[in-house]
Amino acid sequence: LFLVSPYEQAAWAGTILARTLPSLRRGGYRIAFFLRSSSNLYESLDGRWLRLRYYDLMLPLAEMVAALNAQPPDFLVGPPSLLGLLADACSAGKLRIRPERLYSVAEVLEPQDRQRLAAAFAAPVHEIYQCTEGLLAISCPQGSLHIQEDIVALQLEPLTHGPDGPRFTPVVTDLWRTTQPIIRYRLNDVLTLDPRRCNCGSAFRILARIEGRCDDICYFVDTDDTQRPFFADTVRRMILLAGSAIRDYQVFQDRTGSLRIHLELEPGEPFAPTAQCVAASVENTVRGYGCRLQAVQVEPGLVPQLPHQKRRRVQRLG
Ligand SMILES: [Zn+2]
Repeated sequence: LFLVSPYEQAAWAGTILARTLPSLRRGGYRIAFFLRSSSNLYESLDGRWLRLRYYDLMLPLAEMVAALNAQPPDFLVGPPSLLGLLADACSAGKLRIRPERLYSVAEVLEPQDRQRLAAAFAAPVHEIYQCTEGLLAISCPQGSLHIQEDIVALQLEPLTHGPDGPRFTPVVTDLWRTTQPIIRYRLNDVLTLDPRRCNCGSAFRILARIEGRCDDICYFVDTDDTQRPFFADTVRRMILLAGSAIRDYQVFQDRTGSLRIHLELEPGEPFAPTAQCVAASVENTVRGYGCRLQAVQVEPGLVPQLPHQKRRRVQRLG
């Protein structure tokens, strides 16, 4: 159940507009918003300064492309997996839009996806980190993902240290909503902080990364028989560093100490050499952190996902 009062709904709309739109301008903005399911929270945003058009993620891609070409948006907002499909359509010359800015929502935005989207659309990619428990973080004009400290009290609980430093899980208290109070609600996300201060002048803390869910942390056993966590970012790097032919990947951990990796390569690239490099990179990394690798299996092709499912590149099963 998700409840908001009319006041809270208007306050949410005003806040998100104030913190995402560059400024009001003659002619207003056209925003294309891709959602898994329409929520009445979003239906408040339509008027003279803003034309917000919703697209269901279940729509066929060709229909989305035709609709976007007919009404080119200034802002494109959606999960990065969908924005990636639109970027491919853009690179292929089928999608002919020039958005000023992209907003990634609802899924983890990995650095290689950010680069690919920015290159395809020649526009900056910003992030909104939001869930039903609150509006947690928004990118500033400098591109830093600031925690919205005047809207939510975000307490960061340390998770166990991984090989690449501290990770946190957020405990959320919404400071404004009273219709459905959210008080010290622990989310399932894995976060890292950026300790630097931002040039934009905001003193709000900066999130370096959102790295997926706590229950998708992979585990390996070290020489003292202690389980050590490997967070999604560490797993991502050991795969992507192994070869420039890798277009996309999925990682499944069926049991502690082993990985099953699915690779999608650039067209025409032979599979076997890249698969060997990935297996060697995983082995070196896991050993380099003093852990044992039981098994690594590398498979060609991704496991198909339905359009309404959130993309999770690293998943722990069972
Ligand atoms: Zn900033």
